[in-house]
Amino acid sequence: MARWNPNTSQFCSCCVVPVRETIEHLFLKGEMAISVWDYFSNATGIIGPRIQVKQTMTKWWNA
Ligand SMILES: [Zn+2]
Repeated sequence: MARWNPNTSQFCSCCVVPVRETIEHLFLKGEMAISVWDYFSNATGIIGPRIQVKQTMTKWWNA
């Protein structure tokens, strides 16, 4: 978000302890992202390492 709007904080607002916002954090490693991935992983049985956004999306696309 900070890349698109330099007036905003570089730290996330999705975690109890804010960390620097990155694509991986927003979509894979943030507390909210982990909750969403865990919910759908449990529902579908698609389990795997969530290291990179592209890798994870490819795994889900091909499942
Ligand atoms: Zn966060």
